[in-house]
Parts: sequence; C-alpha cells; structure tokens
Amino acid sequence: MVARIGFIGLGNMGGPMAANLVKAGHTVRGYDLAAAAVEKFAGLGGHQAGSMAEAVRGADVVITMLPAGQHVREAYLGEGGILAAAASHALLIDCSTIDVDSARAVGSAAAEKGLAMVDAPVSGGVGGAEAATLTFMVGGPEEAFAKAQPYLAAMGKTIVHTGASGTGQAAKICNNMILGISMIAVCEAFALAEKLGLDHQKLFDVSSKSSGQCWSLTTYCPVPGPVPTSPANRDYKAGFTAAMMLKDLKLAQDASAAVGAQTPLGAEAEALYSRFAEAGHGSVDFSGIIKMLRERG
Ligand code: NAD
Repeated sequence: MVARIGFIGLGNMGGPMAANLVKAGHTVRGYDLAAAAVEKFAGLGGHQAGSMAEAVRGADVVITMLPAGQHVREAYLGEGGILAAAASHALLIDCSTIDVDSARAVGSAAAEKGLAMVDAPVSGGVGGAEAATLTFMVGGPEEAFAKAQPYLAAMGKTIVHTGASGTGQAAKICNNMILGISMIAVCEAFALAEKLGLDHQKLFDVSSKSSGQCWSLTTYCPVPGPVPTSPANRDYKAGFTAAMMLKDLKLAQDASAAVGAQTPLGAEAEALYSRFAEAGHGSVDFSGIIKMLRERG
C-alpha cells in the first residue's frame, strides 16, 4: 500500500533510508535541522518539509532517525512535536539508537495518546542503509509491529520482533556490547601474535575456522590482508566510527547499572574506547583501536 510518510532526520543513515521508501513508491516528506540534508533528499525524489510538524501532519507513518535519546524525546514530546502533530491513525517508528528509558518514555506517551509506536533501531551501517539490507530490532505491541513490517522491509532485510516497547533498543545495545568486546579481543590476539612471531594470515586461517571465529575477525578483521574489504585495508577509514561504538557501549553500561547487571568486560571495553576517542581517534573506524592496544603492549 502506498503511504504518506513523514521522515525526520535525513543524516548519514536517515537520508538513504528515506530514499529507499521513495523508491518503494511511497510519498515521503522529509525534515532535518540541516537544510542541506533536506535539499539532498529532494534531489532523490522526496518532498521537502519546512518544519517537523509539516512533515508529520496528515502522515500515515512517521519515522525518526536522530542522534540520541534527548533528540528523540524532544522530537516526540516537545511543543509542536510529533505526538502533538500526528494524525490519530499514524504509526510511529523510531529507528535511532537511544537509551532504553527514553524509548519506553516516548513509547508510553504515544500509547497514552492512542498512537501505535515501535522502537526499531538498526544494524548494518550506511552501506546497509543504502542497499536496503539493514537489520531491524523492533520493540512494541504485536499490532504495531505488524503495521511497521512492510515499511521496514523497504529499508532492510532482517526484521525481528524483540518484544515489548524498549526491547529493540535493548537488543541493539546488547549486540553492540558483544561487538565492542569481541573487536578488542581480536585486536589483542593479533597484537600478541605479532610479538610471538605468528603471521597475521596464519592466525586468521586457524581462528576463522576454529573456536575464536567471530564477526570482528571474519568480516571486520582489524589487520590488513586476510579480509580485503575490512577497514584495516584503507587505513581504518570508517565504516563504523570509534565514537559510535563508544556511544553504544555507554548506553550498555547505563542500562547495566540501571538494572544491576554484571558487565565487567563491557565496562572495560567502554573505558578503552573512551581512551581511544579522547586521544583524538573518534572518527577512525572502531577496528583502529588495535593501534592503541599495540602501544599499550
Ligand atoms: P547523523 O548525525 O548523520 O544524522 C542525524 C540527523 O538528525 C542530522 O542530519 C541532524 O541534523 C538531524 N537532526 C538532529 N536533531 C534533529 C531535529 N530535532 N529535527 C530534525 N533533524 C534533526 O547520524 P546517523 O549516522 O544518521 O545516525 C542516526 C542514528 O542511527 C543514531 O542514533 C546512530 O547511533 C544510529 N546508527 C548509526 C549507524 C551508522 O553507521 N552511522 C549505524 C547504526 C545505527
């Protein structure tokens, strides 16, 4: 079904995601604080909205792709915001990566107004956004999930209903905590191998086929050579920046503290990525942390 969609946040991820909805035949009105982002979207077949309310008014579906929890709270709950402007039948989908508390707060405020809402953070990066191959982790009522599915399918490939409101964000931060920890583990193993006189390719040949196998090794190998498409082969040009990884590790630690979970390796990964970012490497791909780990050694 062709829908009228309001899309808020046309940045690195939101821009190509909104463009894929246009390609799928929907009428998409886009809004971003950055005028250049809105103009770029217009060049891809989108309609320009001069304000958030203009993008939202009369829309069947409203999608947000914003930096962090505070932006999402403001966008939904603020004066002239999404909940105030949305039509009573509108479906609300927040694809930003934010803290679980903000996701639940916005989700319940929407429910109080009788609006269907899901939190649907993504994994797959800018490449996945462009190719419409993102993975969506979707928290919210079953009915809202069912309504969201066709729109998410126009932007991604794997769509998992994770449970009640907020569980999409929970899945995202748990997954990325695994990723941050596993990347550090793989970097440490290569740095140790170097000191032991073990060739990178030989370690890769063994570990990629044995119990050390993981995504950080086989898709995103932090040394050049074994996986030609990994950022290590282009001097750690991102990809997925260390600053983004740090953001997600902080969210995981905040969530962990809030519920009293034990996540000591998650805490150590956050500390290491903090030090890497503070040293001025926040815009480097997150696999570039191997340079700092070598120095420490
Ligand atoms: P980005 O900074 O490129 O885009 C965010 C956009 O939101 C910007 O264009 C900004 O101007 C706009 N914006 C901020 N406040 C606004 C407001 N009140 N109204 C309208 N527009 C507003 O960021 P991004 O890389 O697109 O990431 C967006 C979200 O996706 C983040 O939560 C991020 O953690 C998550 N994410 C990013 C990646 C990635 O690889 N870039 C991967 C997975 C998830």
